[in-house]
Amino acid sequence: MNGRTVKAIVLAAGQGKRMRSAVPKQYLLLGGHEVLYYSLKVFEESLVDEVVLVTGADELSWCREHIVEKYGFSKVKKVIAGGKERYDSVYAGLLAAAPCDYVLIHDGARPLITEEMIRSVLQGAVDCGSCTTGMPVKDTIKVVDEEGMAEDTPDRKSLWAIHTPQGFSYPLILKAHEKFREGSFQIPVTDDTMLAELFLRKRTKLVKGSYQNVKVTTPEDMELAQVFLEKRTL
Ligand code: C5P
Repeated sequence: MNGRTVKAIVLAAGQGKRMRSAVPKQYLLLGGHEVLYYSLKVFEESLVDEVVLVTGADELSWCREHIVEKYGFSKVKKVIAGGKERYDSVYAGLLAAAPCDYVLIHDGARPLITEEMIRSVLQGAVDCGSCTTGMPVKDTIKVVDEEGMAEDTPDRKSLWAIHTPQGFSYPLILKAHEKFREGSFQIPVTDDTMLAELFLRKRTKLVKGSYQNVKVTTPEDMELAQVFLEKRTL
């Protein structure tokens, strides 16, 4: 991209306990291929230069053989072990992605990523340093306390559900992760843009992705993803 290097980190080191399956969710079969296959295929055919695939420490050689080699994903240059939490896996991916100018971070559990999302998130990263795809929420959202009682009902107009891919200037997101790791902060870290917001006061650009870009988390999500994938290949 205009002489700038763009790399993608695809995360597949989670155990997926909410799926209640023996196989981690990213390796379940969906329309004849593993969930993880679909996002790697989109990255393979995108403007991204290289992909770092982050998996469980016990799955490295299986992934190399049964995913990367089997499907001929030539842009996947590294398959590395993730960590205990998602942010540990991202940090391992960031170290493995050096050197580069821009980095995209994507959950391998979101098979319905598109080339268009990659382009718009990368453009947002170029323009603003930190960018995520997502969609405005359709439901009313309540903040609920431990007794199951509502504490607040934020205005829906200002609420978005945040998805991946997310795109960053590489030095910026590396610094955000390093600042987070320097302290022993007890905050739930559920995405990477929040680290840039919290530790570097960097505002996040949001771009609309798609309501189809579901994260395969529970068995119902597999059914949804299956329907959307079938529509795509028609
Ligand atoms: O657990 P969650 O659904 O938020 O996971 C989102 C993505 O992060 C998944 O693709 C999962 O494989 C990945 N992950 C990871 N390392 C972890 C936990 C989650 O790579 N320790």
